[in-house]
Amino acid sequence: MTHLSTACIHADDIHNRVTDVAPPINVSTTFRYDNENLVPEVEIENFIETIEQTPVYSRESHPNSFRLQTVLSDILGGHAAVYNSGVSAFHALIFHYNPKRFFMDDGYSGVRGIATLYQEKHGLETYKLHQIEEFAEKGDLIHLEVPLNPYGTCRDIAALAKRVHKKGAILSIDSTLAPPPLQDAWDFGADVVMHSATKYLGGHSDLLAGVVVVKTMEQQRKLIRERIFLGTNVGNLESFLLLRSLRTFEMRVLKQSENATKIVSFLHENKANYSKVLNEVYHSSLQKEAFVQRQLAGGHGAVFSVTLRSVEQCKKLPAKLVYFQHATSLGGVESLIEWRALSDTKIDPCLVRLSIGCENADDLIQDLDNALNALQGAAKD
Ligand SMILES: *Cc1c(COP(=O)(O)O)cnc(C)c1O
Repeated sequence: MTHLSTACIHADDIHNRVTDVAPPINVSTTFRYDNENLVPEVEIENFIETIEQTPVYSRESHPNSFRLQTVLSDILGGHAAVYNSGVSAFHALIFHYNPKRFFMDDGYSGVRGIATLYQEKHGLETYKLHQIEEFAEKGDLIHLEVPLNPYGTCRDIAALAKRVHKKGAILSIDSTLAPPPLQDAWDFGADVVMHSATKYLGGHSDLLAGVVVVKTMEQQRKLIRERIFLGTNVGNLESFLLLRSLRTFEMRVLKQSENATKIVSFLHENKANYSKVLNEVYHSSLQKEAFVQRQLAGGHGAVFSVTLRSVEQCKKLPAKLVYFQHATSLGGVESLIEWRALSDTKIDPCLVRLSIGCENADDLIQDLDNALNALQGAAKD
């Protein structure tokens, strides 16, 4: 089998239409029919395959999204359907499975928001994971985000998969915070995997996209058919950008993972030096449970959180940093920091999230050390 880095660069070679080494950006929404070979739609047997090979209209399929789908299917180990955002991907997923009951604990607010809309509009029953044994039935959907945003902590997929499958229910994993090669959710019993491609897969904070990955082509075809009617295909330009980003995907993610693990370990070991500022550090690399190493076999995610002693310190820390920009989102090559209260209504008001990029880890450590020392010096005894 081809390795990840090779697939990122070559999986879509089979779809080369021109001699250009860098695939062209196809911005067209509509494509000329072949006047020598006109087949009415009712006579087309494999509609999805046909529009992928010979695009007709870009809401259905276009050359850049088809290439993208090929690369993502390969590197995510299944059959991918690509969407115009991560939230769109989750919407497609819950629409596709159409469960009577939905189980989820913490997780992305937009994902929870869609479940709430389904509850309000369609009577979807929603539960917590500890209620699986009592209420889950065949065909219900259980959703786990892992690692968990904003903490970057790990939860046991295999243990949950056992409980879910005992009930004949479906387990969806939001693996956005640890894409392959860090975590491969299929190894632990996932039935369907989603990613916000806006984060690590895109990696440059310049595009929105999402992906749902399923085990069979038949199911992927169904997702694509539904996507045509929902109108949520990924855009032409975004597809090009994402495809371009994927060429360097593996080295970016591995560098981010290595950087983050190094920085977390520095903060954890030197916590006493910042005793008037730093309270807790949260990250999977600090968890001791055996499943964590098994599940994050390729390395830890590059997102972690810290709690500080006061809200005032949370407001001041971002401004004291040189390389960390104060902004939401994660997974890009540039390191970000966010006082989470700015974008999350339910979070500990003293929590700050960091997303580590591809800069030099020692420079980032120096930056954090300077800022924390400044706050430590200013803190009252
Ligand atoms: C960002 C994110 C999403 C939503 O993705 P968008 O591309 O912003 O729509 C879903 N899940 C997780 C874990 C995320 O971090």
